[in-house]
Amino acid sequence: MRELISAERIQQRVDELAAEINDDFAGIDLLLMIIILRGGSFFGTDLAKRLTMPVRLDYIRVTSYAGTESTGVVSMVSDVKTDIRNRPVLVVDDIVDTGFTMQWILRFLELKHPGLVRVAALLDKPSRREFDVHIDYLGFTIPNVFVAGYGLDGLDDTMANIPRVVALEEADEMHVSVPPRRARLPILPGVKS
Ligand code: 5GP
Ligand code: MG
Repeated sequence: MRELISAERIQQRVDELAAEINDDFAGIDLLLMIIILRGGSFFGTDLAKRLTMPVRLDYIRVTSYAGTESTGVVSMVSDVKTDIRNRPVLVVDDIVDTGFTMQWILRFLELKHPGLVRVAALLDKPSRREFDVHIDYLGFTIPNVFVAGYGLDGLDDTMANIPRVVALEEADEMHVSVPPRRARLPILPGVKS
């Protein structure tokens, strides 16, 4: 096991992402933040604490994963409790791997007619992508290795509590990168950008 992203680096990156979201959603009267359980819990909570607009927290619990491979099956364990119709929604998850889970959740939420949906994910493994998912607020791009910590389970369902992200396998290339900051994406018409 080796450290891939330190606790300090995660917190610093969450600060930056929160600043982008505060900027993009400036002036909004309510943001519905939907945290995907269990993996998105640490990232979602840390992000929420830094947001300056009124936020309502809600949760979706799905299971989509067995061992180190995605199963390709998503089951809904617990749905959101809030009416999201015509509301701006920020969906927050730990990691986008093949993209299957996030794509499934976004389609599921579309049926509830939200006003706007943006996606935040702490980690992205683009080399594994099979389903096209756009991440609006991404923490880190990581190599194709199984990771744990900061909300993500290790193989025996422990390790989620550690405050840093660790790799449980080695790869030839273990580089972690931060995507370049993109232009502001304001959600309200007429808002200065
Ligand atoms: P996807 O459907 O994109 O293939 O997989 C998404 C879900 O699988 C993530 O939300 C996460 O819960 C789990 N997952 C994917 N990669 C990893 C990993 O490296 N470590 C852990 N603990 N979970 C992962
Ligand atoms: Mg997850």
